[in-house]
Order: sequence, then structure tokens, then C-alpha cells
Amino acid sequence: MGKALIIGAGGVAGVVVHKCCQNSEVFEEICIASRTKSKCDELKEKLQGGKTKITTAQVDADKTEEVIALINSFKPDIVINVALPYQDLTIMDACLATKTDYVDTANYEPIDTAKFEYKWQWAYRDKFKEAGITALLGSGFDPGVTGVFSAYAMKHHFDEIHQIDILDANAGDHGYPFATNFNPEINIREVTANGSYFENGKFIETEPMSIKRVYNFPEIGEKDMYLLHHEEMESLALNMKGIKKIRFWMTFSQNYLTHLKCLENVGMTSIEPIEFEGHKIVPLQFLKAVLPDPASLGPRTKGKTNIGCIFQGIKDGKEKTYYVYNVCDHEECYKEVGSQAISYTTGVPAMIGAMMVMTGKWKKPGVFNIEEFDPDPFMEALNKFGLPWQESFNPDLVE
Ligand code: NDP
Repeated sequence: MGKALIIGAGGVAGVVVHKCCQNSEVFEEICIASRTKSKCDELKEKLQGGKTKITTAQVDADKTEEVIALINSFKPDIVINVALPYQDLTIMDACLATKTDYVDTANYEPIDTAKFEYKWQWAYRDKFKEAGITALLGSGFDPGVTGVFSAYAMKHHFDEIHQIDILDANAGDHGYPFATNFNPEINIREVTANGSYFENGKFIETEPMSIKRVYNFPEIGEKDMYLLHHEEMESLALNMKGIKKIRFWMTFSQNYLTHLKCLENVGMTSIEPIEFEGHKIVPLQFLKAVLPDPASLGPRTKGKTNIGCIFQGIKDGKEKTYYVYNVCDHEECYKEVGSQAISYTTGVPAMIGAMMVMTGKWKKPGVFNIEEFDPDPFMEALNKFGLPWQESFNPDLVE
């Protein structure tokens, strides 16, 4: 069918590449391009030999001209951005200049402000529309599948949805005293930021990690979970008509939180540059350099993730609750693609999102969040490509 340019060669990109190769009817040719070309070559080495033709390239995606030059030489149908959120806008600019479709998994963040907002990318709506190309934003798991679950619940199970609780549990154990499951810099920026939830038309800010609940997750058991701000709440608040309340919860062990607090207290999670032996360094970037690489956690991580959404609303005049979730096993993921479940649960939906656009199912001009499209073909693809979902019509609710 076509060609995809994959930008980034980290944990998530590794899964995207595997999944594109498993889906060679759609992805006939891929180019893996990243800042460090050797990582792209390693991935190519592992995966070449199948039906999907693989090439690699070096690119600094902070530089729009470099991305434009690469697009012009490779001529992809779509760019799958699995670099870092800092590169979203430069890559979108390159897509505009070359009239190429775009998909990513995380919203743009300025490097000097930990702020999770769609406003920068939504500002491209008219430009993408005029150029006749599609940008699909946030096609990972959360954001991503959580938005697809929401559109699916709305389409098939409710007349009105009043409340969504998004529950993200990771019961994986990698055996390190402290490590993050995806890019440590992005992860720590997210969890040290203020929390927030949406209620009655506005967002209410909370102190970081100040709201805790215990939830008994299917196939995982009881876990402490904490209310966080998470980017999909912003688009769901707009796109889920009639919604009154949205909360996002993520599980953390006491051990993780104790380490994090300590690192925070000594200033290691700060994004303010400091002077060190004649250089300017950002403490959080230095911390990233000393922490285990998330891509290295694969062979050591045991246990499961469970990510899903609990919906409360009305169907046929009666109150209804519905829980849809995916359970993913770290060791199974590693056996299949050589990565742990966090990269897996992000990389599979990134490939599916690109497939939706390339096959024309989700092809329309403009910039869209994932819940704005028909969820059915995506839900079907989740079952086919390794993230089967389960449902419950009588779930425990979150107080
Ligand atoms: P990694 O840090 O493992 O990989 C990032 C990759 O991007 C690296 O290969 C890095 O290159 C490359 N990169 C960074 N800057 C540039 C640049 N300027 N030009 C070209 N390449 C660059 O991150 P992950 O794979 O864990 O995460 C990838 C993305 O997925 C992130 O945006 C993250 O926020 C998102 N994510 C989304 C989730 C979801 O559910 N929606 C969940 C988890 C992650 P180098 O090797 O040189 O550093």
C-alpha cells in the first residue's frame, strides 16, 4: 500500500517498526530516522528480511529543513512521530511543506515549560485543512486508545456520558530501585507537575500526587493510584458532548514515590538550567543520563499493565456504567518484540493510527484528536495487533 517515515528510534519506535513489519500489506516500505543513526541501523538489522523494505537515515527533527529534505528524498505517505514531544511542531511544519500526513503519540511541549496542552498543535487546524492533509494527534495508549475507548463507549453504549475515569495501572517489576518505563525526562515532568481534573466545564488544579485512591484492577489486584493531569482530558472535555467530569489516575508504588520525592527535594528533577563546571546543564536531563534506559527494561520486567476507562452515563433513560480495558503482559511483549509493555502499548496504537490514515479510513483534512474518528476499525485492529480489550458492565467505581 505505501511508505511510512518513522522519526525516533527509542523504546516506542522499536515497537512501531516491529508492528509495521507485521503489517507489510499496509507498510510496504519504512524509513527509520533519528538523531542517532546507529539506533536506527540496529532496528533495521533486527527486522530486515521480511516483506517490508527498511531504510534508515540520520535526522535532527528540531530542524524543519532537515525533516523536509528527508521527506522529499524518501517520499512517505505518512510521518509517524515517535521522537519526543519537543519535535511535534517542527515535524508538523515539515509535513505541511511537503503535504504529508502526520501522526504522533504525545502533545507538543516547549522544552523549557512542562505544560501539557494541545493549543500549539490545534493552531495548525486551518493550515492542515487547506493543505488537504491529516494530522492525527495522540495515537498512543493514553492519549490514544483511551480516546478510542471513549468514542466507542459513546457510539455503542450510551446516549449521554457524564463521567470518565481513565485508569492506568502498571504492576510491572523491573528489579531496579528506580527507573521510568518511558523517556525519564518526559515521565518525570508529567508526574511532578500539578494534577488536575475536569468538572462542570472547567479544570481544577491539585497539588502533585495529593489525591490517592486504591483500586482493585482486573488481573492485577489492588494498587494505589494517584490523580494526575493528562493531556487527553483536554480534548475529551471538548469532544465528548455533555461530559461533566473526567479524571485520570496512574498507579505508583510507594518505593517509586519515595525516590521521586528525594530527587525532587535535592533539585534533580528541575528543568531550570544550572552552571556546572563551566557548562550549563539541566538537572532533569542529567538525571535521565544516569537512569536506566527504558528500552533496556524489556528483558527484566515481569508483571502486567491494565489501562482502561470507566464510563458513567445514561442509556435509554437508565443509569449505566461500562469499563473497557486492556491487560498487557510485560514478558509476553518482550518475547514478541523485545520491549516492555509501556513501549508496546504505545507503539501498537501508533502503527494502527498510521494504518487508519493510510488506508483512508481516517483520512480527512485537518488536525484531529483520536476520539473524533469512527472507533470501530481501530478497536478491531487492537484485537488483531496484540492489544485485545475486555469489557465489564458492572465495574467497581472510583470514589
Ligand atoms: P525514547 O527516549 O526511548 O526515544 C526517543 C527517540 O527520539 C530517541 O531515539 C531519540 O534519539 C529521538 N530523538 C530525540 N530528539 C530528537 C531529534 N531532535 N531529532 C530526531 N530524533 C530525536 O522515548 P520513548 O520511545 O519512550 O517515547 C517516544 C514518544 O512516545 C515520546 O514522545 C513519549 O512522550 C511518547 N509516549 C506516549 C505514550 C502514550 O501512551 N501516548 C506513552 C509513552 C510514551 P536519541 O537516541 O539520539 O536520543
